This record gives sequence, C-alpha cells and structure tokens, in this order.
Amino acid sequence: MTSPFDLHGRVAVVSGANRGIGAGIAVALAEAGADIIGVSRSIAGDGGPVGDAVRALGREFRALRCDLGQPVGVADLVADLDADGRPVDILINNAGLAQRAPAEEHTDAKWDEVVAVDLSAPFQLARELGSRMLTRGHGKIVFIASMNSYQGGRNVVSYTAAKSGVVGVVHALANEWAERGVNVNAIAPGYIETDLTSGSHGDSERRLGFEARIPAGRWGRPDDLGGAAVFLSSPASDYVHGAVLPVDGGWLVR
Ligand code: NDP
Repeated sequence: MTSPFDLHGRVAVVSGANRGIGAGIAVALAEAGADIIGVSRSIAGDGGPVGDAVRALGREFRALRCDLGQPVGVADLVADLDADGRPVDILINNAGLAQRAPAEEHTDAKWDEVVAVDLSAPFQLARELGSRMLTRGHGKIVFIASMNSYQGGRNVVSYTAAKSGVVGVVHALANEWAERGVNVNAIAPGYIETDLTSGSHGDSERRLGFEARIPAGRWGRPDDLGGAAVFLSSPASDYVHGAVLPVDGGWLVR
C-alpha cells in the first residue's frame, strides 16, 4: 500500500535550498521520494552539498540561481521552470533574510529588501506556480512563517511585518484555492540553528537565554522541519488548508 506521505514522482521547488532550513527540507522531501529544484542567490551549478545529499538518495536535483529580491527575479525563475518542462507539484517558499535595526532607525532600504524577499517574492512565486497547479487541479504550497508572525520581536520590524503578512497571504490563498485542489499552508519555525540566527546561537549567553525559554530545552535544527514539510507536501494533508503549523519546540505555549 502506498504511504500517504509518499512523494515519488513529484517535483518540488525549494527556495533557499542552498543551506539552513531550505536544505533540511529539500533532503526530507527527497527522502520521501520527490525530485528537487533548489533555488537561491548563490547555489552552485550542481547544487553543492544539498545537491549531493539529494542525489545520494537516488533523486534528481536541479539548481537554479535567482535573486528573489530583484524585480525580474521571479519572472526569470518561472521562465526557467516553464522551459524545464516538468510541472511543479510542490512549492516550498522558504528563502528569506532579516535586517536588524531599531524601528526608529529602520531605513526604507532595509524595509524594502526584507519585504521584497520575505513577502512579495513568495506571493509572486505562489501566484505563478499556483496558477499552473490550479490548471492541473492539484498542488501543494508551503510558506515559511516565523515566531515573528505571532510576536513583535525587537529590532526586526520589517521582518515581523513580512512574516505577519505571509500568514495573511496563506489565509487568502487557501480561501480561494482550497476547492480547486491546491493546498496552501505554512510552517512557523521556532529558533533554528542556521546562519540567519548565528548572532543568537553563536553567543553563549543569548543561546542559553533562548534555550531556557524553549520547552523542548534545545534550539531546533534544519532537519526538525522535515516532517512538517513532508506532511504539508503530501496527500496526507489533502484536507489541510490555511494552517500555520508551529515547529518550535513549544516556544509559543510557554
Ligand atoms: P539562512 O540564512 O540559513 O538561509 C537563507 C536562504 O535563503 C539561503 O539559501 C539564501 O540563499 C536564500 N536567500 C536569501 N535571500 C535571497 C534572495 N534575495 N534570493 C534568493 N535566495 C535568497 O536562513 P534560514 O534557513 O534560517 O531561513 C530560511 C527561512 O526560514 C527564512 O524564510 C527565515 O525567515 C525562516 N525562519 C528561520 C528561522 C530560524 O530560526 N532560522 C525561524 C523562523 C523562520 P544563498 O544561500 O544563496 O545566500
């Protein structure tokens, strides 16, 4: 009997697959059977370590380099995907960045960059790949939200705005697309050890401060997101629409 979590024969686009959470999710989807198209600003032609890990699982990995912060970034990426010819079944909208500065010093440049990469590009990718999924009558789109989708944070007002906006986009798209066979959901990671959070987990005092507040008693790792990503990309979640699934070691219920 086929597992409801099986992804064999599916093609997944993972933005930000080059490292961190995106790399962890790409490997988890490949373990479940998906072929991966990994997108990032600087990913190597062969996909580097994540490409090797996916191929070692017997799955295909294709790397596409794209700056999602540039106005033509998404359009060029979608043209490349169309030229590839294989329909995209799964979109993991993961690429993201943060800019830190107190709100009163948060410049337009910081705001515009974060909103472009963390909110506008994920919407544009969902619109373009989602419209193709709607035509085929099925597809899975997973956005990556944040604890800052629920909480204000400090010195990251543009990031909080973008990640709060992501939840609104997920609700809106799910509302419009659920009856047409496309699932739109989000994962909200807690504090995960990646380059993005190195300023916190790399500083022993701050690291321990966070740990003390996490019910699971440890920082998350990129592979902690894999199970949720496979679930939301697979037939197991066919009746799940507009959900935001925290994978946070219990942070939100502390
Ligand atoms: P990393 O900094 O480790 O990786 C970010 C990835 O996004 C990289 O692959 C990077 O590409 C890609 N990326 C960034 N900007 C662009 C751009 N302009 N165009 C294309 N690709 C880009 O971050 P994480 O893995 O930690 O974060 C992944 C996602 O998870 C983000 O959306 C983040 O907001 C979210 N998140 C992370 C949390 C954490 O604790 N780490 C918590 C909650 C949410 P390249 O490698 O080529 O530079």
